[in-house]
Amino acid sequence: MSDKPQAESPQPTYDLVIRNGTIVTAEAVYQADIAVSGEAIAAIGRDLHGRRELDATGHYVIPGGIDIHVHLEMPIGAFTSTDDFYHGTRAAAFGGTTAIVDFVETRPEETMLDALAARQARAAGKVTIDYGLHMTIGPTDIAKLDQVSDARAAGCGSFKLYMAYGLRLTDGQLLQALEAAGRAGALPVVHAENWDVITTLIGRNQAAGRTTPHWHPRSRPPELEAEAAGRVIDIATWLGVPLHIFHVSCADTAGRIAAAKARGLPVYGETCPQYLYLTQDLYDRPGVEGALPVCSPPLRAAEHRDALWRALVAGDLDLVTTDHCPFTAAEKAGGLADYSRIPGGVPSIESRVALVYDGLVNRAAGSREDGLRRWVDVCATTPARLLGFGRKGRLLPGYDADIVIFDPEASHVVSVESLHETCGWTPYEGQVLRGLPVTTISRGEIIADRGQWFGAPGRGRFVPR
Ligand code: MN
Ligand code: MN
Repeated sequence: MSDKPQAESPQPTYDLVIRNGTIVTAEAVYQADIAVSGEAIAAIGRDLHGRRELDATGHYVIPGGIDIHVHLEMPIGAFTSTDDFYHGTRAAAFGGTTAIVDFVETRPEETMLDALAARQARAAGKVTIDYGLHMTIGPTDIAKLDQVSDARAAGCGSFKLYMAYGLRLTDGQLLQALEAAGRAGALPVVHAENWDVITTLIGRNQAAGRTTPHWHPRSRPPELEAEAAGRVIDIATWLGVPLHIFHVSCADTAGRIAAAKARGLPVYGETCPQYLYLTQDLYDRPGVEGALPVCSPPLRAAEHRDALWRALVAGDLDLVTTDHCPFTAAEKAGGLADYSRIPGGVPSIESRVALVYDGLVNRAAGSREDGLRRWVDVCATTPARLLGFGRKGRLLPGYDADIVIFDPEASHVVSVESLHETCGWTPYEGQVLRGLPVTTISRGEIIADRGQWFGAPGRGRFVPR
């Protein structure tokens, strides 16, 4: 490059340029403009210009968040989670998330490909951001394991295995399912809890008339969550198959994952905002208040919450998802006579990016730059890499222009009044946060900007992984 001024060389003009922001990636924090052409990032550099320009002075520019564990319009028994594919993805986008992974479950008589097509059809006219789907392998799917490679080829790069609930697999079935996923080159993702112990403890509590939500965490001990995680880690390790542990709620399970990583094993773990922010004393609140935060695994004591933040910073946990699965207060209240009948799940699809920022950056013990890089890593970059979003999770030319502009100084009080989630309550009501996503760009299109919504239902696409 000559240091003489360039004579009249025509500047390329891009469709959109975000100017003067501070770019934050998992690797670095630096000042630059970022240019978009069509649906992709075209250039990152200085003094870029486009037909439309956004001034991001004083703001962070980050890859859009990726939430790889959400349940939208999810049927659970008599209930369906309240956010459908439109409202759920819209709330996600307002909160700085530009891709999600939801779930497919097959009926016994249905093939995996038919179930996948049905779930895609349900999402198609509604999704406002890109999405992927985990294929669930339940007990009746063990007879269909020869279809795993078809589902993999159709874009299900990950398979969900349950060790709890009606969909739980026995250890022998787990072995077969892990083997099939491994053979297909897909990532198994697991709900790990010891269901036999849980059902025994629930039965004992019911017999003794201990039916309030107070007993919910006391039926699902952290030691037995860790036992189940350790068991599936051991089976996967013996098979030589990588593994991702869902919704780690306690120090015990984080310890099992850390131990596996220390042995060099491809074992990964996530936690969720509810385990990073909320504690089990909430179950002692009177009436429906105590029922609202029922989720599984349950909220734990504060020592676990603190250990999870440390594990996230240290890299023992790899990412943060929401396990977003909202139900209304009326639906929750329906189970007040027996805590085991309360539909489980809490909302946070819209608050995740800001909540994790508050913990990893505002309240960080280490340097601000380390906190910023880790924030982007656990919210976007590692979820994209681990779950096979090849063009997302990073800010590089050629990647999808899924970009979020984040105002680090915008203080706000989380409230159901300002959220776009539809269940009518949030466990973070009243939480004061500093830092807020202000603009969300999905494949080059500004879909949310300073509280205004521009994303058409159905504009999101299924991403084969
Ligand atoms: Mn689960
Ligand atoms: Mn879940």
